[in-house]
Amino acid sequence: MVASNITVTPADTGLVTAEVVRAERISPHFVRLTLGGEEFAGWRHVGFDQWFRLAVPTNDHNRFDTLPDSFDTAAYLRYLMLPKATRPVIRNYTVREFRPEVRELDIDFVVHGDAGVAGPWAESLPVGAPVALIDQGCGYRPVATAERVLLVGDESALPAVVGILRDLPREARGHAVIEVPDLDDRQPVDAPAGVEVHWIARGHGAHAGAAALERVRELGADASTDAFAAGESKLATGVRRHLVNERGVPKANVDFCGYWRHR
Ligand SMILES: Cc1cc2nc3c(=O)[nH]c(=O)nc-3n(C[C@H](O)[C@H](O)[C@H](O)COP(=O)(O)OP(=O)(O)OC[C@H]3O[C@@H](n4cnc5c(N)ncnc54)[C@H](O)[C@@H]3O)c2cc1C
Repeated sequence: MVASNITVTPADTGLVTAEVVRAERISPHFVRLTLGGEEFAGWRHVGFDQWFRLAVPTNDHNRFDTLPDSFDTAAYLRYLMLPKATRPVIRNYTVREFRPEVRELDIDFVVHGDAGVAGPWAESLPVGAPVALIDQGCGYRPVATAERVLLVGDESALPAVVGILRDLPREARGHAVIEVPDLDDRQPVDAPAGVEVHWIARGHGAHAGAAALERVRELGADASTDAFAAGESKLATGVRRHLVNERGVPKANVDFCGYWRHR
């Protein structure tokens, strides 16, 4: 994870193993994988932007039974000691939907080309592949009443922003800004009536997050704003800097997290 002030609140479920039971290309830049497994019986579902560490297989020899069941510094060092040939890769993802009655969990993966592991793996629609998850809790601090929310994300944070909108109190008011590579990547949103959702298409060749940051500047904010900003690192830090330095929003009111870094 890159720049962030979110608090990690892991559940004690530890390592949950599952399998990809369905895979679907849902829009130009998104693949939805559905994971299923009996171990989801104990999954702590907290909603909003709940996220987890996902162990992704890189070959048929990967072992999931030797992975640590937490992801603090000591556990991460134990993970690094595992033989590379049999060690799955770990990446961070958001719970898009959880269906306890059928023990299924959806993840929406951004398809971002050939680089990396998780994106290309998801794009291969790997039905039947084994995976493992370690719950990390919510980054967003849910508020009892939200008078003026501002939620901002690029496509990597679409699942987080849409999840927060779904779980906000229905009387919440404010704005959500979601930048996607293509307007065909928009998804249906269950948002409170008082929260306006702004879908923005990234311009050709534009830096991820630049258009969303521009919209945030236009919308304005004040000391009562309660904000969440996630996505490409410069978007997350740019929103925070703008709100705190130029709009007087208290630092404590801005949850921000760089989800990936443009390289
Ligand atoms: C709390 C949290 C929740 C997240 N939830 C989700 C989620 O639900 N869905 C989701 O798709 N992502 C999510 N992410 C982002 C995801 O973890 C990263 O995009 C991750 O880097 C993808 O791994 P990879 O193996 O595909 O690429 P990496 O090996 O990490 O990177 C390889 C190359 O791909 C580029 N790259 C990585 N991600 C992107 C991207 N999104 N767009 C364009 N280029 C990229 C990198 O700059 C690098 O050049 C989340 C991140 C965090 C911290």
